[in-house]
Amino acid sequence: MMNSLSNSLAAADIAHSLHPYTNARAHERNGPLIITRGQGVHVYDSEGREYIEGLAGLWSVAVGFSEPRLAEAAARQMAELPYYHTFAGKAHEPQIRLAEKLVEMTPEALTRVFFTNSGSEANDTVVKLVWFMNNALGRPQKKKFLSRIKGYHGITIASGSLTGLPVNHKGFDLPAIPVVHLGCPHHWRFGAEGESEAEFCARLLREAEETILAEGPETVAAFIGEPVMGAGGVIVPPDGYWSGIEALCRKYDILLVSDEVINGFGRTGARWGCEKFGFTPDILVTSKQLTSSYMPLAAVLMTDKVYQTIADHTETLGTLGHGFTGSGHPVATAVGLENLTVIEERDLMGNAARLERPFQDGLRAFRDNPLVGEVRGTGLIAAIEMVADRATKRSFEPLGKVGARAAAFAAEEGLLCRALGDTLALCPPLIVTEADVGRILERMGRALDRTADWAR
Ligand code: PLP
Repeated sequence: MMNSLSNSLAAADIAHSLHPYTNARAHERNGPLIITRGQGVHVYDSEGREYIEGLAGLWSVAVGFSEPRLAEAAARQMAELPYYHTFAGKAHEPQIRLAEKLVEMTPEALTRVFFTNSGSEANDTVVKLVWFMNNALGRPQKKKFLSRIKGYHGITIASGSLTGLPVNHKGFDLPAIPVVHLGCPHHWRFGAEGESEAEFCARLLREAEETILAEGPETVAAFIGEPVMGAGGVIVPPDGYWSGIEALCRKYDILLVSDEVINGFGRTGARWGCEKFGFTPDILVTSKQLTSSYMPLAAVLMTDKVYQTIADHTETLGTLGHGFTGSGHPVATAVGLENLTVIEERDLMGNAARLERPFQDGLRAFRDNPLVGEVRGTGLIAAIEMVADRATKRSFEPLGKVGARAAAFAAEEGLLCRALGDTLALCPPLIVTEADVGRILERMGRALDRTADWAR
């Protein structure tokens, strides 16, 4: 039985809200899961039930759901200077310090920071800055972006165009900017019969080069990719993929953009995804674990070369005609700074690297489950893909029904995870302990067993 407060909240939610990534009619029938508080790796619903947040919210809450230092940093900044902007040369200390800190924490080549409120805005900013830059360089035809099928870069008009998932295009008239989606680097799903991972990688790179040549390198501005794809189903590319992409970008004078909105700050077991895979981006995008999502914030980092061209053009035009009311928001940047300090002081990136094996190996034991086609991941990010037929890798029809059922069983077992079609994604807070990992594995194991019984 629901208590009366949660009953009235649920009714009000059904009456007034349109939820993101939700079937609105199903929501009217089923109502919300109302989360009321958090403690460490746990969140609690309005009925008092405890869950391990196996996706760290939306791949984002590195320090867990009850870090007082972030709340105190926010309160201090609220009292001192709750808002100021960064237009027309205005600045404030948290924005200055966080930009300095990000330059210190990212690969050496990245020297400048532009702040936005969200990852989508950050990727829209990337598109606009790249266009601005190529206009400045007198090559207005060099505007196309290369992205990948299953890549996720957000949902605004430009970032949603970069995203390579049908659900983000269908019904929205996207893509609406010039973008070409290259093949997805997922060998298990897209490798041809008998094709080794190395052969698959070589084919993808060959196809990428053919696409660049067919489009005309003089029209291709940038390649954007997540080092490990997140929302597309946690896809770790084959060895040699990123060095091959980097080489193509250098060969054809194409900017390389690393979207590290999920990958950043230790998620993959390395500090940055680009460091894990050994490539050097011209532009890097970060968000989510930047503030542990306690405040909305994202950042675009760029090399000096990119910055210098843009800076010259602002002098020519008189300004940079781009910026958000919340760009570098003082409370968000103060929380970001404190969050990064906590991540460093507690060595949470090291924790992710140390727990990689128990987490990944434990999940791989689920390959025995009759529904499980593939278990994949790296560091503290992973996915379990369920299929109707393991031999042929045939997906369930309709896609997503089994995934939704499995996620519901996991929630009943006290574990929140994300169903992406019939793939279950896990990405726990970086503060997890080995014992927490053990509990995640137990609960996931029970959920998968129940799903297998249900699907029989
Ligand atoms: N880029 C990546 C890799 C993401 O995973 C996301 C969000 O999940 C975004 C961009 C968009 O960020 P936001 O939801 O803050 O707009």
